[in-house]
Amino acid sequence: MAIDITISEVGPRDGLQSIEQIMPTDAKQAWIAAQHAAGFTEIEVGSFVPPKLLPQLADTAEIVSFARTLNGLQVAVLVPNLEGLERAVAAGAHRVTVPFSMSETHSVRNVRKTHAGMLEELARCATFLDTLTDEQRPVFGVALATAFGCTLEGPIPEDRVVRMAARVVRLGVDEVVLADTTGYGNPAQLKHLATGIWGTCGKDRMTRIHLHNTRGQGLANALMAVEVGFTALDASLGGIGGCPFAPGASGNIVTEDLAWLLESMGLDTGIDLEKLLAARALVQEALPGQPLFGFVAEAGLPKTG
Ligand SMILES: [Zn+2]
Repeated sequence: MAIDITISEVGPRDGLQSIEQIMPTDAKQAWIAAQHAAGFTEIEVGSFVPPKLLPQLADTAEIVSFARTLNGLQVAVLVPNLEGLERAVAAGAHRVTVPFSMSETHSVRNVRKTHAGMLEELARCATFLDTLTDEQRPVFGVALATAFGCTLEGPIPEDRVVRMAARVVRLGVDEVVLADTTGYGNPAQLKHLATGIWGTCGKDRMTRIHLHNTRGQGLANALMAVEVGFTALDASLGGIGGCPFAPGASGNIVTEDLAWLLESMGLDTGIDLEKLLAARALVQEALPGQPLFGFVAEAGLPKTG
């Protein structure tokens, strides 16, 4: 049966990079295997950033080669630049995403690159990918990070995001990902922004969205995303990645709750919810004391019959 909506699990990357505990490599492998067994076809397993910056993800190459052994799984990673992309290709990742912050202040502070500098870096990435065979070449995505607002700059003008999306597509990027990095977005804004980008870049260049639940708008935004035509949504098991200083402020939208929302609406995600909750138990065990979020796990699955 064809899947209606792909839920791309990003917990092993976005979740783990935001918490202090370092999950052992074998526990990450067990987690990824458990979600693959629960029906996930895509998992972002790590990030190729310098290990001294993110020791939590220092084993990404090893995790990629493990994940590649799981039948049919699209193995995704995040890379900040060409150097990371080269490492991702060497490791055999199927999909790479480069974050491109729509807030120039955030971009300079985070990766020490202006918008012009980032566009040059993306062009270098595209040139490198052109030298690869189809076998070696991963899907090349660029995430329009902080597209809904930035903690440093505040609101981000929509026309800037639309313009940057168009420039990124012209560089030869396979897809752009709309990303609410800071959890500032609301459904009306999402619809307007997505429509603007689609009007300029075409609908098939942007089918994926990355949402955070920082202010509790995550599932409302996810529902709007599905309504307007996104077919792939990032989510994190247990919503891990929340700020430890703001209790209850979760990170990404919660995979279990998103899967339940979509499945209960009759949309096929390919996910077995019981097996997904078993994966959650594994993760909880591997991250003692780490709060996991989500209503479905709390309440239990309703009786079916
Ligand atoms: Zn994120």
